[in-house]
Amino acid sequence: MPELRQNYFTKEWVIIATDRAKRPEEMVKHREAKTVARHVENCVFCVGNEGKTPPEVMRVPNAAGDSWQVRVVPNKFAALSPEAQPTRTIQRSRRTMGGFGVHDVIIDTPDHSQIMALLPEAHIANVLKVYKSRYDALSLDPRIAHVTIFKNHGGDAGASLEHPHSQLIATPVISHQVRERFQQALAHYDEYGECMFCQTLEEEMTEQSRIVLATDHFVAMELFASPTPFCTPIYPRRHMASFGDISAVEIADLARVLKTVLAKLYHGLENPDFNFTIRSAPAEYVGVKHFHWYVSIIPRMTRTAGFELGSGMFINTVVPEAAAEFLRNVKVELGVGAGG
Ligand SMILES: [Zn+2]
Ligand SMILES: [Zn+2]
Repeated sequence: MPELRQNYFTKEWVIIATDRAKRPEEMVKHREAKTVARHVENCVFCVGNEGKTPPEVMRVPNAAGDSWQVRVVPNKFAALSPEAQPTRTIQRSRRTMGGFGVHDVIIDTPDHSQIMALLPEAHIANVLKVYKSRYDALSLDPRIAHVTIFKNHGGDAGASLEHPHSQLIATPVISHQVRERFQQALAHYDEYGECMFCQTLEEEMTEQSRIVLATDHFVAMELFASPTPFCTPIYPRRHMASFGDISAVEIADLARVLKTVLAKLYHGLENPDFNFTIRSAPAEYVGVKHFHWYVSIIPRMTRTAGFELGSGMFINTVVPEAAAEFLRNVKVELGVGAGG
């Protein structure tokens, strides 16, 4: 029988459609193997075309020191502008604000063909260090309320350029959705005196059925009320409100966990399009006890349709426990097992 499950963090209901449920392997979309060149002449993110991007914000040099491994540049088609003023105007029902903000592109690698799942762990750790460096710098700007770091991989995930890259958008407001989730976590803390994320991690580690992998510092798992198939959040095991609180040891561990989960998706589901996003406490809430940052990896296996748009409720056709078992069983190089 189908089952409705409620997301503990968001209070949103999800339909786990067991009657139309698919076995995880049935979700795989077989793709033609395509060869991607390591260097593309007219790609603005490829080596040699550095002059075609806006002036560089920062870079991690390569081992030889003659080029780069990771680069940050302003987005040429930025959603928000650092030149604008975050001035608010309210005219009865019309509320506006100057389009102030920062929109970075983080070029993950100089190699056009190399996707994150296949990069060495040390290289991914460098990308994460760049995320942290930009996150920290922008969080200090009093005009910035919230920093979102994300990656779009593949056309169904909204990527318009093939060269592997991530993005960061710093906004002068906290979105209603982020505010709402933050309030849920605060209300829980007020009532029970505990972080709802820490509580859930403890329960999930005891139960094990939805754990994909666990290391000393991170847990990757399927949510009990996962809205979409194979949606896999990665939580730090230590309570931290902000991504900026991550330590050097945790960055190295996260690089390993992120690579392993992305490689499991890549090999197990044949390189699905996906988004990942780092969900962290808004800048002014550093150190709070009620919110817990995490990385959310969302493979784009299904399309959002009318019911989802009309009801705000998702129909998930893969049972979360089956998705977790499937991902646990995908063997990848440098993989780490569940448990522990
Ligand atoms: Zn390129
Ligand atoms: Zn916590």
